[in-house]
Amino acid sequence: MNCCNNKPIFESYDGNRLCKIHFNAYLEGKVFKTIRQFELLDKEENLGVAISGGKDSLTVLSILKRLSMQNPNIKICAIAIDEGIAGYRDRTLATAQEFCDKNNIRLHIFSYKEEFGLSLDEMLKILNVKPCTICGIFRRYLLNKKSKELKLTKLATGHNLDDECQSILMNQMRNDMKASARLGPKVGMVQDEKFVQRIKPLYLCAEKEVTTYAFLNRMLDSFNECPNAIHSYRAQVRDMLNVMEQKFLGTKYSIVNSFIQMLPMLKEKFSCGAIKVCSRCSEPCSKDICNACVYLERLKNKAVSSLIEPKPLNN
Ligand code: SF4
Ligand SMILES: [Zn+2]
Ligand SMILES: [Zn+2]
Repeated sequence: MNCCNNKPIFESYDGNRLCKIHFNAYLEGKVFKTIRQFELLDKEENLGVAISGGKDSLTVLSILKRLSMQNPNIKICAIAIDEGIAGYRDRTLATAQEFCDKNNIRLHIFSYKEEFGLSLDEMLKILNVKPCTICGIFRRYLLNKKSKELKLTKLATGHNLDDECQSILMNQMRNDMKASARLGPKVGMVQDEKFVQRIKPLYLCAEKEVTTYAFLNRMLDSFNECPNAIHSYRAQVRDMLNVMEQKFLGTKYSIVNSFIQMLPMLKEKFSCGAIKVCSRCSEPCSKDICNACVYLERLKNKAVSSLIEPKPLNN
C-alpha cells in the first residue's frame, strides 16, 4: 500500500510503500522510539557521537543533532578516529569534516599515529594479526579514553540491526557468551567513571534502511568500504545473514529480538561487579593488563630493530 500520492522510494517489511517524506519520518520515528524504549538518553547529556564518515554514523549524528536542537539540555559533539588506513580513512574523514562543518557540529579527531606512534598500516607490517582485531582494540581504547577527557556522559555509535545481528552470531559461533553480555542497545553494565556508556540509537534500523536514509538525504555521495573488511570474519557472517534474510524475510529482526529477551540473563550471569583497570594504563579491562597494552608491547618487541617506536600508554 502506498503512503500517499507521492512517488514511493522504499518498501518496508510490512509491505508499506513510502515516499521520501514518509520514509524519513518512519526512520526518525524508529530511532526516537528506540531511544525511549531502551532509555538511551537522560534528561541532560553531554553526548559524543563516534563517527567514521560512513552512512551509519552520519545518519545517527544527523538525527541526534536534530534532537539536540529541539532539546538544549542534550549537547552533542562528534569524535572520529583516524586509524591510518591509506586511501580509505582520509576520504571518509573528509566527508565527516564536511558534514560537521555544514551542520555546525564540533568534530574531534584522534589518530593512532599520534596516540600510539604507529598508524594501523604500520602496525600491520610489524604484526601478523587480523587487521580488524587490532584495529577494534585500539579504537575502543581511544574512544573511551578521549570520551572521558572530553567529559562526555555517553557515546553514541552508528551500530545498526545488521551489525548487532552479526555480532550475536559471531559470539555464538565462537562460544563467547561473555562478549554477548556486552552487546545490546546500551553498553556498559554499570555506571562507572572509568567507562563511558555507549548507546546505539540505530539498534532496530536495518542496514538497508540506514543506507536509504543516508543517500536520500545526500549525506554522502559514494560508498566506501575499508580494504581490510573483506578479510574479516564479520564479512563472512554478514554475507551468510544476507542470504538467509533474502530467503526468509525478517531473520535478522528475529535474531536481535530473541537476543534482547536473553540479554538480562546474560548480563546477570557475566556481571563482573566493579570494573577492573589495567595495571599499566588505568583504562578499564577484564584482565590485569588491557589488550591495547598487550598489543603495544608486542609491537614494541617486534619493532625493536626498526626505526618505528610505538609510544607507551600512560594515564
Ligand atoms: S574494517 Fe577492520 S580494519 Fe577496517 S576500519 Fe573496520 S575494524 Fe578497522
Ligand atoms: Zn508519502
Ligand atoms: Zn592498558
